Amino acid sequence: MFNLNDIIRPNVLKMKAYSSARDEFKGDASIFLDANENNLGSLAGENYNRYPDPHQKKLKARIAGIKGVQPEQIFLGNGSDEAIDLLFRMVCTPGQDAMLHLPPTYGMYEVSANLNDVALEAVQLTPNFQIPVQELLAQVKPTTKIIFICTPNNPTGNAIESESIEQVLRNFNGLVVLDEAYIDFSDSPSWTTRLAEFPNLVVLQTFSKAWGMAGLRLGLAFASAELIAVLDKIKPPYNINEATQELALKALFQTEALKDMVEKIVQERQLLMQALPALPAVEKVFPSDANFILVQVKDANRLYHYLLEKGIVVRNRSSLPGCAGCLRVTVGTLEENQKLLQAIAAF
Ligand code: PMP
Repeated sequence: MFNLNDIIRPNVLKMKAYSSARDEFKGDASIFLDANENNLGSLAGENYNRYPDPHQKKLKARIAGIKGVQPEQIFLGNGSDEAIDLLFRMVCTPGQDAMLHLPPTYGMYEVSANLNDVALEAVQLTPNFQIPVQELLAQVKPTTKIIFICTPNNPTGNAIESESIEQVLRNFNGLVVLDEAYIDFSDSPSWTTRLAEFPNLVVLQTFSKAWGMAGLRLGLAFASAELIAVLDKIKPPYNINEATQELALKALFQTEALKDMVEKIVQERQLLMQALPALPAVEKVFPSDANFILVQVKDANRLYHYLLEKGIVVRNRSSLPGCAGCLRVTVGTLEENQKLLQAIAAF
């Protein structure tokens, strides 16, 4: 049986969150001399002389409405990268505990584990980039606190089968972190609808991809209210800045425009999926549920540099295990995709 308090680090269980005067004070006030701000104003614009809402109440209320969860089930981070780091710090004692991930996958799980002195254990995805569930579960040790599963997976682009994820959730007594950064481009449903079933489930999403807000740095973690309360306790108090809170809130009312943009990107993805296999340099195009495509080519390093010379930057993933000869290309605009296809054709 999973029990949240059993896996939270003892120092984290004991500690209290940073508390500001505005947190402690419940009444009305018009003069704020509590936070050593500049009360004359800001050179950057109205309100920016004040610290932002540390609880991001307006933003969380809006996100809760869009995602169909309770505000208490949402953690907001300075990108989902911040949530990844805080999850390690919440449950993994440095120099003692371990995490498991499934390469080829997103690189920050490894970077963040290394930074936090958490032992890194890896089980390769199968040749069609699915989870070898029995092998994965066999790798679990008493010190394994987190399993990271990226779905749709970066850099392979495919969604992970839900039966496999369910088996991991049912048979692992630590946190199962499902990274759904690319879920808006996928036909697979989000696991946020199943939070009540699995107290060990954490779902990560981000506003950096479909919502087009990578520059604002806003990522999300969804989990039980109890788990989210712990993340909120350990986060830096003002991790989401005022400009991000304001701009994201405005954008979050444009759900129709989001749908249109995602539809366009998915259409462009389909066009690339059809056009790429016809090019002589291309050996294989992997199916994609994301806004990028993994492409196996004849001479990945040379093609990569050739494209650079043409002013086109893609991601060379050919040195990753399981991705030999592969480049990862983001779906661009119609014009950008045409230029990419022309450049590969001329290679
Ligand atoms: N998860 C995955 C799978 C990603 O590909 C990325 C960004 N490349 C992130 C998380 C990080 O997103 P954010 O911009 O929210 O930090």
